Amino acid sequence: MTTRVLLAEDDEAIASPLARALSREGYEVDVAGTGTDALRRALDEEYALLILDLGLPELDGLEVCREVRAARPELAVLMLTARTDEMDFVVGLDAGADDYVGKPFRMFELMARTRALLRRSAPAQDAPEVVEAGGIRLDSTARRVTVDGADVALANKEFELLRFLMEHAGRLLTREEILADVWGDSDLRGSKTLDMHISWLRRKIGDDTGTQRRIVTVRGVGFRFDAV
Ligand code: CA
Repeated sequence: MTTRVLLAEDDEAIASPLARALSREGYEVDVAGTGTDALRRALDEEYALLILDLGLPELDGLEVCREVRAARPELAVLMLTARTDEMDFVVGLDAGADDYVGKPFRMFELMARTRALLRRSAPAQDAPEVVEAGGIRLDSTARRVTVDGADVALANKEFELLRFLMEHAGRLLTREEILADVWGDSDLRGSKTLDMHISWLRRKIGDDTGTQRRIVTVRGVGFRFDAV
């Protein structure tokens, strides 16, 4: 089943590239250019996520959020705001938004937040429960990992890291993408956090011996999971 996303944004320069990026990720996207249109669609149709601009014509994003929250509590709301001061966050929280992204935002960060929100709100729909590649079987529901049939105990972040890599097997993931998805923060990239976790993970899945590695380092860019 396709995950449907409603994008409420009146600025074409933001709405168009964002809608394209969401479509590329496999979501079915509808765009609403006014607050009233956004509210009508959110109440009439079945969306998993509403990406909601704070400043919308006709009806303010906060008001849309309040009404959506009252009528459709299960719909995840990610608010876009140009204003990043604390007051707006507090007001937005009161209105019932689940998360925020300040403008201007970087596309991969918004995609990471989107995936995280959808995973929290509908785990069975968004992420596959079991991923298998390279002799590793990762079961998200049971939070269990086996390597060649043997159980491996992973810490929370190691599990999330492995899941993110495996869900995108064969694709180069940048350090920023990984940090944004697993840690919710790309500004850790100067730290050794990611490298330390990769190193622990490699040891636990037996990737530190032999010549062929499942987790491949692409120097200066990031990592790729290869099903060897
Ligand atoms: Ca706007």
